[in-house]
Amino acid sequence: MHDLVGRRVIVTGGASGIGLATALVLARRGARVAVLDLHVDVPTPLLGFQADMTDGTEVAAAVNAAVAALGGLDGLVNNAGIGAVGTVEDNPDEQWRHVFDVNVLGVVRSTRAALPHLRASAARPDAPTAAVVNTASIVATAGLPQRALYSASKGAVQSLTLAMAADHVAEGIRVNCVNPGTVDTPWVERLLQAAPNPTAERAALSARQPTGRLVASDEVAAAIAYLLSPAANSITGTALAVDGGMQGLRLPGEPR
Ligand code: NAD
Repeated sequence: MHDLVGRRVIVTGGASGIGLATALVLARRGARVAVLDLHVDVPTPLLGFQADMTDGTEVAAAVNAAVAALGGLDGLVNNAGIGAVGTVEDNPDEQWRHVFDVNVLGVVRSTRAALPHLRASAARPDAPTAAVVNTASIVATAGLPQRALYSASKGAVQSLTLAMAADHVAEGIRVNCVNPGTVDTPWVERLLQAAPNPTAERAALSARQPTGRLVASDEVAAAIAYLLSPAANSITGTALAVDGGMQGLRLPGEPR
């Protein structure tokens, strides 16, 4: 499929996991793709730009450098994010500030820097809409244990998605989010390795999803690519669950 030929896209957190899978799938479908990340050792044809999402000056400089290299900007994937484990009693204020700084303010900073360029893209008479896709999470809509801080940050990302969609629809800029379930990425592998029994923990996480397996990064990437593509030109302000049915299904035998 080459439905993204000529589209120019930035992916934050694009050096690993879901972001890397997304950047590669977009490139395979014809887009020119720049990655913004802490470490930018990315494979060709991806272009890497170093930025810490907690630093507004760095993010703005990296977005502008990426736009210059790409020759404009038609899409932004706000995917960089970090996790946190614990109940509301467990995480110190400083950690709350840091996770929100990356997961929520990071989206604000990159979108703020990208908007003038997305507007220029959408204003071209022959162009499809410009698009932003945020990576939220199942935790935005379902309560999972030991995820108080992380859930609050991803709930904020989903709400921010709706507000941004309303603010920019008249400018021809669509804004959506994806809500993945548990995805088989280096992040989840790190969590598994920290568990007392990684094999049992992987089995438990897989069983939590109605499909009985973890989501693949490529499956989230395909959803993001769809939301960026002209096929989704009438879609804005939605959250697309890519969670193996975890949010929507209640199967016989599950706890009630
Ligand atoms: P990952 O750790 O494999 O990749 C995250 C990337 O973000 C890394 O390359 C990292 O360097 C980058 N990053 C982190 N902090 C940054 C910062 N301050 N500035 C710039 N870049 C930064 O993780 P992943 O599993 O691919 O997660 C990607 C996104 O998907 C995150 O927003 C995460 O919350 C979300 N998500 C993941 C899962 C899952 O199960 N893996 C589920 C739902 C949502």
